[in-house]
Amino acid sequence: MADTQSVVSDVKLFLERLKKEMPEIFGTDEKTTEGNGNAPTQTAGNKVLFNGDLLEARTYITPDQEEGVAFDGAVFHVYLQNKESNPSALVTQWLRDKAAEVLPQKTKEWAEKIGVEYNRVVLKDQRTLWASCSSQKNINYSYRIIKMPPVVQDYLVIHELCHLRFMNHGQEYWQLVGEFSPDYKLHRRWLNEHKDAVFEEINITLPPDNTPKEKTENNPAE
Ligand SMILES: [Zn+2]
Repeated sequence: MADTQSVVSDVKLFLERLKKEMPEIFGTDEKTTEGNGNAPTQTAGNKVLFNGDLLEARTYITPDQEEGVAFDGAVFHVYLQNKESNPSALVTQWLRDKAAEVLPQKTKEWAEKIGVEYNRVVLKDQRTLWASCSSQKNINYSYRIIKMPPVVQDYLVIHELCHLRFMNHGQEYWQLVGEFSPDYKLHRRWLNEHKDAVFEEINITLPPDNTPKEKTENNPAE
């Protein structure tokens, strides 16, 4: 099961990459989906990587509403006060908050299963390291891990927690990792192939002609 999930995400990311690199292949695709009558006022390329999926972000100028991000499970709706607001910063903060919620929880659950004790979880903005484990038994994570498929997030948590048992990458260490993350080799491959996408900064731009819209008008079809 875990396998399938990670492979599906692989395929999605691969297709998104292709779209970027060879727009001619997918050129007509985008236009037909926007021709359905309820196309949002949104530029192409406003994508957010979350849980291994490249998802759409839509921006709305709503001066009478507090700024913020609402995620409906498929689309990030970003509500902005005015055109000077920063949608990328709002979504980045949303991802940080999500990481602060999810990663300590995963760490707690996996530590119980593996049977190790840690001190605390620290979230960082590490740009070269996904995660690390200190001699004080603190587990450090880059919040960007939240962009990865959940099975890969789990692998990284397991990877660090297993270091509380073995402070090396020896045979015994990988054996322990494999007990709790049997597909860890696949997950390591995913990390290797998608590190650029995960470290990439969120970049959401406002459409050039963004007329204010009421929240309820945005998606009449749903
Ligand atoms: Zn390690």
